[in-house]
Amino acid sequence: MPFQPHQHTNQRELFASRPQWVEDDARRGIIATVVLPEGVEKPLDYLVPESLAAEVEPGRRVRVPLGRGNRERLAYCVAVRSDELPQTPLKNVVAVEDPAPLLSQRMLELTKWMAERWMARWGEVLEAVLPAGVRSSRRLRSTPLLSATGAAPARKLTPAQEKVLLAAAVPATAATLAESSGASRAVVGRLVKLGLLAEEGSVEIQAMRPQRAAIRHDRPDELSPAQRAALEAIVAPMQARRHETIVLFGVTGSGKTEVYLQAVEETVAMGRQAIVLVPEISLTPQTCDRFRARFGTVAVLHSHLTPAERHAQWREIAAGRVNVIVGARSAVFAPAPRLGLIVIDEEHETSFKQATAPRYHARDVAEWVARADGVPLVLGSATPALETFARCLAGEWTMCRLPDRVGGSQLPAVITVDLRDPQARAKGVISPRMAAGIDWALAGGGQVMLLLNRRGFATHVQCRSCGHTARCPQCDLALTLHQPGNRGICHGCGLVTRLPADCPDCRAPDLVQRGTGTQRLEEFVRSRFRGVRVARMDTDTMRSRGSYEETLDAFRARDIDILVGTQMIAKGLDFPGVMLVGVVHADAALHLADFRAAERTCQLVTQVAGRSGRGPLGGRVVVQTSTPDHPAIRAAAAHDYEAFVRSELPIREALLYPPFGSVVRIVVRSENEEAASEWTSHLADRIRREAGDANGTRILGPAPCPIARLRDRFRWHLQVHGPDGPALRDLVRRATATVQTPDSIAWIIDVDPVDML
Ligand code: ADP
Ligand code: ZN
Repeated sequence: MPFQPHQHTNQRELFASRPQWVEDDARRGIIATVVLPEGVEKPLDYLVPESLAAEVEPGRRVRVPLGRGNRERLAYCVAVRSDELPQTPLKNVVAVEDPAPLLSQRMLELTKWMAERWMARWGEVLEAVLPAGVRSSRRLRSTPLLSATGAAPARKLTPAQEKVLLAAAVPATAATLAESSGASRAVVGRLVKLGLLAEEGSVEIQAMRPQRAAIRHDRPDELSPAQRAALEAIVAPMQARRHETIVLFGVTGSGKTEVYLQAVEETVAMGRQAIVLVPEISLTPQTCDRFRARFGTVAVLHSHLTPAERHAQWREIAAGRVNVIVGARSAVFAPAPRLGLIVIDEEHETSFKQATAPRYHARDVAEWVARADGVPLVLGSATPALETFARCLAGEWTMCRLPDRVGGSQLPAVITVDLRDPQARAKGVISPRMAAGIDWALAGGGQVMLLLNRRGFATHVQCRSCGHTARCPQCDLALTLHQPGNRGICHGCGLVTRLPADCPDCRAPDLVQRGTGTQRLEEFVRSRFRGVRVARMDTDTMRSRGSYEETLDAFRARDIDILVGTQMIAKGLDFPGVMLVGVVHADAALHLADFRAAERTCQLVTQVAGRSGRGPLGGRVVVQTSTPDHPAIRAAAAHDYEAFVRSELPIREALLYPPFGSVVRIVVRSENEEAASEWTSHLADRIRREAGDANGTRILGPAPCPIARLRDRFRWHLQVHGPDGPALRDLVRRATATVQTPDSIAWIIDVDPVDML
């Protein structure tokens, strides 16, 4: 029984008559602080019984009793201390789950920082940084050494050991093996030490490892002066073992990827590991091949890995057997023990922010990790985020410009078509000037890319007689028409219905399709340019990974003349045959209720424009827009992203939007609209009261979200702005610390959100 000082009600008695053994026990008492993955938010203390003292350590999970019922829960041990007298009675740790720590001390510090930075629960952050395959209890099986000989090998085994090995013919957890064979956990542990039991999968992994791709020698003989300067800016701090953030601001095709590759070469040559983060969409075999061709073994962490595969990669990285790690957002948590460099390509991409809790941004996490490890962080983009630009302007980060394409190819001329001009719309969704551009490219033996960031056939179906628009019954969204089959699909919840032929409201047979989507654009292009090979790329046609590759390969092989697609086609693709890029509706997303709408539009148009004219044939871009004078459109058309940055930063500053302040967005959901609205007001009142008047805090809302209903839940939100991030979070934390959320309400906090819908 542990020493429980509170049982002595009389302090004098406690100190006067405490027997010697109690004092000894107390001095030797070890206390473990644990964090639960869900439920209780604050860290809890438990006593560590002597029998577990050797095993309980930070980073391992333990089993602890919780609440009146003492229900056993799995929890992360985050700290152990042994020099303290417990102030309150403590319960005992019951068991230790993991044979070794899953998280290093540094990962514990990182997760704690993340919990503060994005107002998440520490426990949920701990869960998020560990892949499911790593968290699940490891299963053991007998090693081939044993199965090969078919009997106990030369080593003399005890009967208990033999029983365990027999049971381990079928992979099972250590606990199950011990139980089913009637042996103790110690016997199982001993067999692992002897190498007669091994983690399931480890055998297969060894066998599949030497999957070296044929080395292609695509390494250029010489870097351009701008590339050399950028490489130098990365290698200098690397050699000095100093943290620095270097931003490669370079137009598409300026050779940024080549700089990453050579920086990674330097890292590997120094005996260290590099993590390269790319948007999930860029994790194509093309990107991976480029890294494999240089480095042989590359760990690729994408979302299609099975938990077992991910776990296997994790272990290889942790063992230091892989030098180059390429992956999406969560690869920033890869447990590289000899980290030497982190690279984020297309750093402006919003997919680096996680949309579910914990709502972290990989760029900030990468900066924390790079700083902690004293290594350079490289951010690359043709259109850096305004947050990134501001850090460079403030002198915190180093900006390296790569203003020209390698090989001297010119950036394409951009023609803007004003859609307010009836002439431009007279012949349908493609204006005469864009059609002329397409004809020009095809006649010259070139290819065409057409961007329209709206999938489906028509964005909505409307009755010409009464104005009724078909809407999703569960969401506040118009149904998008998809063909074939006249299906109405809700892009909010995925609901699929058959659209009627007549208006369901007034019965008039007068339904018209409005707002062209990629499907209809494809159909239009097929009929307008006869005999031309057309393909479409959007999430509807690219359901599987394979189809994405197939389409890109076919386009590269010139088996496709015109590629129609959503923003999917705008990302990091390099096709020398493209002579014309058409942006069908540049301002489609410009007027969304999102302070980043202009930035995103400028980035998208600039990125897709950069796909044109990468080959020797030259290229053109045609941008159709209803707001040709908007700074975002003008800057993109002039290939002058920085002009947009200069016009946008003062606006952000005046409104205290990032990067000049921090935003905390609170989203409230309920089946009952009044409940949602009232609860949002309640939270706003609390925050307003807590803020007082002095510190520049501003509250926007409460208001219905732009998508006011989703999956039958009403959605309200409010935004809190403040000049200082930590102070703002602290304010919201204090204001909401004691709220008792009614059962009918669900609400979330999103710090520095990228999704404002
Ligand atoms: P970015 O990442 O900026 O779009 P890349 O690194 O992909 O640019 O370079 C564009 C193309 O130019 C690639 O085909 C690449 O192999 C090639 N390239 C890059 N640097 C050089 C160089 N110094 N000399 C010759 N070719 C180069
Ligand atoms: Zn819906």
